[in-house]
Amino acid sequence: MKGKIIVISAPSGCGKSTIIGRLFEEGGLDMRFSVSATNRSPREGECNGVHYHFLSTDEFRDAVAAGKFIEWEEVYPGRYYGTLRSEIDNAISKGENVILDIDVNGGVNVKKQYDGNAVTIFVKPPCIEELRHRLEGRGTDSPEVIEQRVARAEYEISQAVHFDHVVVNDNLEQAVAETRRIISNALA
Ligand code: ADP
Ligand code: 5GP
Repeated sequence: MKGKIIVISAPSGCGKSTIIGRLFEEGGLDMRFSVSATNRSPREGECNGVHYHFLSTDEFRDAVAAGKFIEWEEVYPGRYYGTLRSEIDNAISKGENVILDIDVNGGVNVKKQYDGNAVTIFVKPPCIEELRHRLEGRGTDSPEVIEQRVARAEYEISQAVHFDHVVVNDNLEQAVAETRRIISNALA
């Protein structure tokens, strides 16, 4: 039987990496993380091949031209992100489950391509101000980048209707538990 694709999408700063990190730390879900490619620079603590495959802009464009991506997006001006075919197709044909942390357009795109095999989860912030507060608190982005991310968030939230499930990340423990329940049901 084919493996499942679990997609988690959310505006940046909403907490999806935190939630995914917690799910892996706590264990018990038979899935592995799909490592995307991006041309953005690594943040402190991020490792190539673990958090992302960090590519130069030219390398990213070459990978697009070579058809290596299932989907890719210019999520922010000049910042490209994409899901590598090599991370997904082999795994699911062997019956392995994969979890993707990708933007909302990517999430909708993957759902279209892998309909019966994909379960999509949208993580919503309690409100935009809290999202800004979390991005500021994370301390990884300049004020200009934070504004870009907040500005995009309203559009992203409007896309939640296209997802199979919506989880509000207000209380982290509850959001992790709810996400775990949805994934457990999907993998059962
Ligand atoms: P994303 O992966 O969606 O961009 P992160 O997981 O990096 O977001 O979370 C952004 C910031 O918000 C981090 O500093 C994280 O610790 C914090 N955070 C995540 N979930 C919550 C929550 N429920 N309440 C308060 N802060 C949170
Ligand atoms: P960050 O720079 O904060 O790691 O990610 C910014 C945004 O890009 C997030 O919404 C994240 O989910 C998204 N993203 C990461 N990888 C991919 C991918 O492979 N495809 C798409 N479409 N978006 C991605």
